[in-house]
Amino acid sequence: MILFRKATAASDFLNDKRIHGKSIGFVPTMGALHAGHLSLIARAKTENNLVVCSIFVNPAQFNDPADLERYPRPVEKDIELLIQSGCDVLLLPSTEDIYPEEGLLHLNRYDLGHLEHLLEGRSRPGHFQGVANVVDRLLSIVNPANMYLGQKDFQQVKVLERLVTHTGRSTHIVICPILREANGLAMSSRNIRLTSLSLENASIIFKSLQFAAENFQYYTPATLQALCIKQIQSFPEASVDYFEFCDTDAFLPINGWGDAIHIVAVTAVMVAGVRLLDNMLIK
Ligand code: AMP
Repeated sequence: MILFRKATAASDFLNDKRIHGKSIGFVPTMGALHAGHLSLIARAKTENNLVVCSIFVNPAQFNDPADLERYPRPVEKDIELLIQSGCDVLLLPSTEDIYPEEGLLHLNRYDLGHLEHLLEGRSRPGHFQGVANVVDRLLSIVNPANMYLGQKDFQQVKVLERLVTHTGRSTHIVICPILREANGLAMSSRNIRLTSLSLENASIIFKSLQFAAENFQYYTPATLQALCIKQIQSFPEASVDYFEFCDTDAFLPINGWGDAIHIVAVTAVMVAGVRLLDNMLIK
């Protein structure tokens, strides 16, 4: 695996590969890699000549400085995992490289429509503008044929689909399934901040999503939403930020099951101070 710390060096190397007909698959991450991330690398390997992973903890997408500070950064272990996974190129840029000349103070503004202000966007103002800024910059460096994203961050996928379309890029987005712990909890870099008891309790998030998927036809969306929130909050350390049913295309909350062909249940839950996201396609 070749490690680049400088964006220009990575970009020169990848341009040369592209000119020589190599297709590039790209997996952007914030590191603290787990099996979920590695499944994206594995998928990219089957569909491209060259797999590029980036690790960059993007300050622009953290609205809480303490959260940014606490974000795990086990870089040596990540490099080891990427080598084992057969990743070809790791881009490990500095903040200065991604946001040169006080770029963090002068972020681009992207038209993300309602996606910016809804659910995750409402709870974390500026978050998706930060995500759009970093991914647009990373795409300029890597210019991949395919970009691999986890369904785990469903709203982020919608934001990045919109970004790619609006910026006229030819990169194709591949959405990969959510990898889970044995108890159903979605894998996340943040899980390592939970005690074993909290990890066990947090499986209620998956169980309530499963309950919604199996029983939605027996309830109205509003009743089911209230039931699921109650289930999750039966654990004293869990507090639901949102639990919503959305149309998978427009990503707008629905009022009735007939409002959309495909519906996803999306939720964000604070468990012992750690923000956990999950979702499940229910219709
Ligand atoms: P992150 O490092 O959290 O920014 O995630 C990097 C990429 O990995 C994103 O596209 C995530 O959606 C994806 N990802 C995170 N957790 C999982 C998971 N449990 N299963 C599959 N993909 C995931």
